[in-house]
Amino acid sequence: MTDPHTAGLPGRIVHDETVPARAPWLHRVAKGQVLRIVDLEGNQAVDFLVYSAADDAERYSAQDTIAAQANIFLRTGSVLLSNEGRPMMTIVATAVDYHDTIGGACSCESNTLRYGHHTKAQHSCVDNFLTANARAGRGKRDMVSNVNFFMNVPVEADGALGIVDGISAPGLTVDLRAEMDVEVVVSNCPQINNPCNGFNPTPVRMIVAQGA
Ligand SMILES: [Zn+2]
Repeated sequence: MTDPHTAGLPGRIVHDETVPARAPWLHRVAKGQVLRIVDLEGNQAVDFLVYSAADDAERYSAQDTIAAQANIFLRTGSVLLSNEGRPMMTIVATAVDYHDTIGGACSCESNTLRYGHHTKAQHSCVDNFLTANARAGRGKRDMVSNVNFFMNVPVEADGALGIVDGISAPGLTVDLRAEMDVEVVVSNCPQINNPCNGFNPTPVRMIVAQGA
């Protein structure tokens, strides 16, 4: 039976893994390989960081990425730039119109501020990022502004950010081609206090293809 989630990927599949709801993920993607993220059940925010495998002092820069493309949303053709201004990954295809890179990652601090002190012990994306990064010897100072795939963060007319119902749906995908050897760090967002995960965190699938 053909697997609809792998359709159109270039070259043979070299890695295929389902990340459980609320879990972190860390994986190396070589230059030229394509990482596909599948939103298996829909409306699942995938918080995403990327570091150069050669020297992780070089890492994703939301600021440089936004400035270079003169747009705050990430779409097909968007190039994720590093803090040295170099292309790290390119969004070569996406089934969702746009992705966020200004909303940040949820943390116990932002949860308590937004949703009350009783949420302080809830698991957060910052916890996941720290857990995954610790495996590569990185700590709090290595945390930078992230991408939120499948997350809908519109900017309202008054300039305020919204975190609203997702525009993703079951089985939708985003494909990223690595432009250098990279280490991808993901938090499959555990947030349950706003609609970014439909109040119900779900698994996502990570597929890496060898590339054309
Ligand atoms: Zn989160």
